[in-house]
Amino acid sequence: MSSPTKFVLDESKMPKHWYNIAADLPVPPAPVLHPGTMQPVGPDDLAPLFPMELILQEVSTEREIPIPEPVREVFKLWRPSPLVRAHRLEKILGTPAKIYYKYEGVSPAGSHKPNTAVPQAWYNAQAGIKKLSTETGAGQWGSSLAFAGSLFGLQVRVFQVRVSYDQKPYRRALMETYGATCVASPSNETNSGRAILAQRPDHPGSLGIAISEAVEIAATNDDTKYALGSVLNHVLLHQTIVGQEAMLQLEMAGDDPDVIVGCTGGGSNFAGISFPFIGQQLRGGKKRRIVAVEPAACPSLTRGKFAYDFGDTAHLTPLTKMHTLGSTFTPPGFHAGGLRYHGMAPLVSHLKELNLIEATAYHQTACFEAGVMFARAEGIVPAPEANHAVKGAIVEALRCKAEGRSEVILFNLCGHGHFDMTAYQNYFAGKLSDQSYDEAELAMALSGLPSVPA
Ligand SMILES: *Cc1c(COP(=O)(O)O)cnc(C)c1O
Repeated sequence: MSSPTKFVLDESKMPKHWYNIAADLPVPPAPVLHPGTMQPVGPDDLAPLFPMELILQEVSTEREIPIPEPVREVFKLWRPSPLVRAHRLEKILGTPAKIYYKYEGVSPAGSHKPNTAVPQAWYNAQAGIKKLSTETGAGQWGSSLAFAGSLFGLQVRVFQVRVSYDQKPYRRALMETYGATCVASPSNETNSGRAILAQRPDHPGSLGIAISEAVEIAATNDDTKYALGSVLNHVLLHQTIVGQEAMLQLEMAGDDPDVIVGCTGGGSNFAGISFPFIGQQLRGGKKRRIVAVEPAACPSLTRGKFAYDFGDTAHLTPLTKMHTLGSTFTPPGFHAGGLRYHGMAPLVSHLKELNLIEATAYHQTACFEAGVMFARAEGIVPAPEANHAVKGAIVEALRCKAEGRSEVILFNLCGHGHFDMTAYQNYFAGKLSDQSYDEAELAMALSGLPSVPA
């Protein structure tokens, strides 16, 4: 263990721009469609929901987009985040591979999500917006936006999926600490929520439903905009600071990754770590393997259809072409709440179609086993979502061992699991099972995909 463990960038080296992969794509992604007209949406169609600066980022093809200085100032609270060589995990695995992880759990909310929450709140505040509405599953995004809102004087209202609202009171308390209000979804505050409750008063909720409620509030209130924590181009863009920093830190380490691994819920932390490297390749640089790891119980990239679909259950959002399980698909209630989304970021889906990335899926007990091994070797308890990336990295390291190859593996440790210890307790008590999704329900959800004229 004589080689260094931790690679820390000086504040002055923090990237000054985000990297926009749209500038380097060999084929542009399919356009976003208006659900009424089936025609491509223009900036004006999105204006009720987002401030214009974010809409322009959503459609931009500029390679570099400057990070506003006030946003960089906030980032300095925890960025640049560390890159760590997992010496002890390597030793336990007996692998000749080098394993590096980029640790995003050092942010105030404990994950990568503040990387986009802060700029989103800032652009909204600059546009004179006073209120933001959003949804959250496990609460990572809700608490990140609550934190960002508190910095710029924005009132944040969070619709939290009912099961998580009941199961994870500490995330809710964190949102309230930052001054946000948190409502269990489905709620009585919106038409979409009331319609669901009328059918089933004890509905456990889903991300798709919570998005409908948050969008409805923004669409019907002039002083309120909507904020999304994943999936959209501008969110993925904001996360690219992660991969750009990792690139500089690996240079310090004198290494160049052969394999990059990230977990995928909506695709933002995966895009953050990988897009800057994929961009290098698209401009003629080294080809690397880029591996997306998703939960086997909600496998949009590996089992979903690449098709136009809605982002929400009530069908209020535009149509995007992506890998989807169908907007009415409700995944089984596994513990990586942040990975329970029916769709995938259109940009990540597009890269999959272009064979620029690979995807694989694992069940939750195998991921918790990997996470516990990681915690005992490296000390950090990963978020249940991040356990999927840990599992993916371990699989690659063991492959290197079997093949006798000393490859360099980089993965995104996108968050810590300090608010998720109930899930760990359940794992230790043998109460976590590997739930499969219902094939009949998937078939039904996929048969309900909107038909879009070619
Ligand atoms: C929200 C979340 C995810 C899933 O979202 P992506 O957009 O796929 O990154 C994964 N990990 C953590 C820790 C999260 O908070």
